[in-house]
Amino acid sequence: MNKPLDLKELMVDRAALAKRLRQETSGEVMTDSASRGRYATDASIYQAMPVAVFVPKTAEDIATAIQIAAELGVPVLPRGGGTSQCGQTTGAALVIDNSKYFRNILDLNLDKAYVEVEPGMVLDHLNGSLKQHGLWYPVDVSTAGQATIGGMAGNNSCGSRSIAYGNMVHNVLGINAWLANGQIAEFGNYANSSGVAKQLGDFVKGLATTLQPEIETHFPKVLRRVAGYNLDIFHPQSELPYTQDGSVNLSHLLVGSEGTLAYFKSLKLKLAPLPKYKVLGIVNFASFYKAMDSAQHIVKLGPTAVELVDRTMIDLARSNPSFKKTIETALIDHTAQTPEAILLVEFSGEAHAPLLEKLKALEELMGDLGLAGSVVPMPDANLQKNLWEVRKAGLNIMMSLKGDGKPVSFIEDCAVPLESLADYTQALTDVFSKYGSRGTWYAHASVGTLHVRPILDMRRDGAQKMRAVAEEASALVRKYKGAYSGEHGDGLCRGEWISWQFGPKITEALAEIKTAFDPKGLFNPGKIINPPKMDDASNFRFPPSYKVIPLQPALDWSAWNVQNNPVTEETSAPGTGGDPAMGLAKAVEMCNNNGHCRKFDAEVMCPSYRVTRDEKHLTRGRANTLRLALSNQLDMKDESSQLGSDAIKEVMELCVSCKACRRECPTGVDMAKMKIEFLSAYKKRVGHSLRDVAVAYLPKYAGTISSIPLLPALLNLRNHIAPIAKLQEWIMGISAQRSLPIWKSKTFWSNPKAITPYQYSADELSKQKGVVLLADTFNAYFEDENLMAAIKVLTAAGYQIHIPHKSQSKAANTEQNTCSKEFCCGRTYLAAGMVDKAKETLGELVNHLAPYAGKNIPIIGLEPSCLFTLKDEALVMGFGERAVTISQHAQLLEEFLANEVKAGKLNLNLKAASKPVLFHGHCHQKSFAAVTPAMELLKLIPNAEPKLIESSCCGMAGSFGYEAEHIEVSKQMAEASLLPSIRKSPDSWVVADGTSCRHQIADGTQREAVHIAKILAAHL
Ligand SMILES: Cc1cc2nc3c(=O)[nH]c(=O)nc-3n(C[C@H](O)[C@H](O)[C@H](O)COP(=O)(O)OP(=O)(O)OC[C@H]3O[C@@H](n4cnc5c(N)ncnc54)[C@H](O)[C@@H]3O)c2cc1C
Ligand code: SF4
Ligand code: SF4
Repeated sequence: MNKPLDLKELMVDRAALAKRLRQETSGEVMTDSASRGRYATDASIYQAMPVAVFVPKTAEDIATAIQIAAELGVPVLPRGGGTSQCGQTTGAALVIDNSKYFRNILDLNLDKAYVEVEPGMVLDHLNGSLKQHGLWYPVDVSTAGQATIGGMAGNNSCGSRSIAYGNMVHNVLGINAWLANGQIAEFGNYANSSGVAKQLGDFVKGLATTLQPEIETHFPKVLRRVAGYNLDIFHPQSELPYTQDGSVNLSHLLVGSEGTLAYFKSLKLKLAPLPKYKVLGIVNFASFYKAMDSAQHIVKLGPTAVELVDRTMIDLARSNPSFKKTIETALIDHTAQTPEAILLVEFSGEAHAPLLEKLKALEELMGDLGLAGSVVPMPDANLQKNLWEVRKAGLNIMMSLKGDGKPVSFIEDCAVPLESLADYTQALTDVFSKYGSRGTWYAHASVGTLHVRPILDMRRDGAQKMRAVAEEASALVRKYKGAYSGEHGDGLCRGEWISWQFGPKITEALAEIKTAFDPKGLFNPGKIINPPKMDDASNFRFPPSYKVIPLQPALDWSAWNVQNNPVTEETSAPGTGGDPAMGLAKAVEMCNNNGHCRKFDAEVMCPSYRVTRDEKHLTRGRANTLRLALSNQLDMKDESSQLGSDAIKEVMELCVSCKACRRECPTGVDMAKMKIEFLSAYKKRVGHSLRDVAVAYLPKYAGTISSIPLLPALLNLRNHIAPIAKLQEWIMGISAQRSLPIWKSKTFWSNPKAITPYQYSADELSKQKGVVLLADTFNAYFEDENLMAAIKVLTAAGYQIHIPHKSQSKAANTEQNTCSKEFCCGRTYLAAGMVDKAKETLGELVNHLAPYAGKNIPIIGLEPSCLFTLKDEALVMGFGERAVTISQHAQLLEEFLANEVKAGKLNLNLKAASKPVLFHGHCHQKSFAAVTPAMELLKLIPNAEPKLIESSCCGMAGSFGYEAEHIEVSKQMAEASLLPSIRKSPDSWVVADGTSCRHQIADGTQREAVHIAKILAAHL
């Protein structure tokens, strides 16, 4: 039997391991504490420092690494997206990340409907390429954008539609894998197997034959059982047979083995036809119990999914303006009380008509069950899509609970037979309240696997409560003959429950299987075999000994510095959470490692990961590094320099402060603000460079430059004389490959008299149809035509405009140089880490705007990064209520105009466009949901047919794209989708509101992109 391996006492020569890996492979080797720390966690509550991290480039690299690790006695832990919820992917081992380089389809057979892929292939990417063939891989896990096929097989993952398609084990046809001795074995149909695979198969068959009565007694009969190894392949116990023809497939033994038996090299998968049509019937229930009780009857109609959303989640969605309308499409009567639960019942197939019949059958069934009129039929595909999105977002809102108590996943995938589901959920709810917590229920009612997470504080009494709840939940699972581990695997959390589930004989047999495959216990020790206790605090990410270093952040993070009530989920007053880092640490700790930032969908997060695929250039990697630094877990002696350390610089280097994570991260991790904190601390340590000063003080000196005769022309020579650009690159680090914005001697401010008509006090303006228009540095000095266009549009629409300017009260009519008389949002200072200077500058603007906001006058901006500073950073700089009021009135030009049109207060009456329009949204515009108004407005131009470019960050990101060391990454970001989309439409207008975006587009495509103000003005 496998000897228990004490991971804490594991003595390894890390240096020797790294040296050999570097010499003998082409992969990336990481041994520093920050890099290891980024691979120490997954989406569970656990943490274990890897011995080292290896990112192999070739299959030979993996084989060599396994061999070296075996020789040096270092365990090996294969890893995909690292999204496991039970700690499967944490361990004191050589962690090998497959997700960067092993993403290929190796073989696609359309006739036989199978595909063979490398283990790091992400499910969404696979399905994206299968779509054109009308096929898909139907194990649709919620983490489809991040989960790798290797990881899904490792965990025996299950999707929402498992009732129709089964789990991973039902959909894997074969696995080629390295064994612990480095040998490659082919696992597939047992009858046709040979060599070492056959020998191992024979051995397991022997065990299974001996233990047949035990298997029949102890293996739960439910579809959702993923604990231990699938010893039942020889005597199948699952509701759904593992193979269609009843044959035994040896690869199924590896599915669910959590990296403990073999290292997958490639996986052969069974594909399914992509359903042509889907319909949804949403059943509304006044009683949660009734909803649970109905699931057993509904599944008899043959749905492809039955998903639960409970009242808490419905209410959360209804209270959110973005989701209210959509969730109410699911309700029978949105004026009545919220139902206790809804079930989303999906039917899919090749033709629409039979599905409509199914919907009718559902309505009849509910009538028979005493719930006539409880079904909302939803045949429309778009409405269905929106509703599924809300279901996902509801979970995200729940996960964003601030404070140390967090919804903890440890019994959230127990599976019980459907006839017991109602009693089980009722009993478990009682258990939660007994321990002072509460659960929100959601997910897979069709297969008896309801997700529920009680809120526990692992730093305090969470571990004790977890044990107590788990004990009671397990008794319920046993009572109802269910499976304790029904979806998310065993890992560190449920390993100890394997023997509880299967009894001693099967547990012993599982250990024998491990020994037969991996005699020295090389692969992922401590998982499935010899697991630790689930509540062993030394494995926790937040053990009771977890301590945050005291520090005074530059911004106000008190909103995160709170605690919560596990039953009501109410949070305490800002600043009362007891965080020695004044809320910054708690904000960082919001990252629960779910890996959602590893996505490549139509949104923005996270541009630096999209081009590098490096964990350190990912929001999660950044948050983890910050967390380790703020809790003094990186090898650094000086606590005071943790935040501004080189380790943090390394992860922040490519963060473009796009603010996408602020919106798209399920828990709202706001890395752009955290980068400001880092920059502030880092620059205090190392000082500011000439480039920092040049960028930061641009708003201060722009006026002087433009007002000195010939100086603008002289400076512009830099764009035409290569050696000057080279010299500037050498001195300041501004890339010679970039053109710089063109200086002008005639700017928006150069004739102070020109702005005289636009000077009003708040009182005067409030008596008219008035707006404040911000003239930001970039538009005023480099693209004044945009401001002129905005004035033209607003004036044509009948608005009186006030343009903030410091000279308005006394010197508006003088001819004096207006340098530094302009207000500024302080963004350039923030980008350089000069927070005090930003506060001073932005404070002046806030003082000026407060009276206007106080009179409810709209505050309009053209440059998204400047305008949204008022809605974002201004709120954490200590300006108090004034900043909040201003933020409520601050908006982009298009937001203002689109709202006015909607309210029937404005008719722009625009001329027809001569060519179609392409629109690229600035990242901050996307982050504040201000792209839709721009599109709405563009649609008002006849024939414009505006199309939104589905792009992430343009890569310019303020000064980032100008910086010599970042130019290549900047170009890669632009080339990911923005520039190719523009090149594909040579005859379109390109509209982009960000000055940097327009610059990137001009540099990369030699096309002029225009601000929306200009295109509107041109069509007046
Ligand atoms: C918000 C959220 C929602 C989730 N929803 C679902 C869901 O709907 N259904 C579901 O089943 N799960 C779900 N999960 C859990 C998790 O996302 C899935 O288990 C996923 O399939 C794991 O994929 P991964 O690439 O992240 O694997 P990892 O976490 O990286 O690895 C998983 C296991 O596979 C092993 N492994 C990885 N690669 C190999 C290889 N090449 N050879 C051998 N072993 C390997 C690892 O060692 C590990 O034990 C969810 C998780 C989160 C955070
Ligand atoms: S940063 Fe956000 S999206 Fe990324 S892993 Fe953390 S919580 Fe998830
Ligand atoms: S701000 Fe943008 S680049 Fe930085 S971590 Fe967030 S998504 Fe990534």
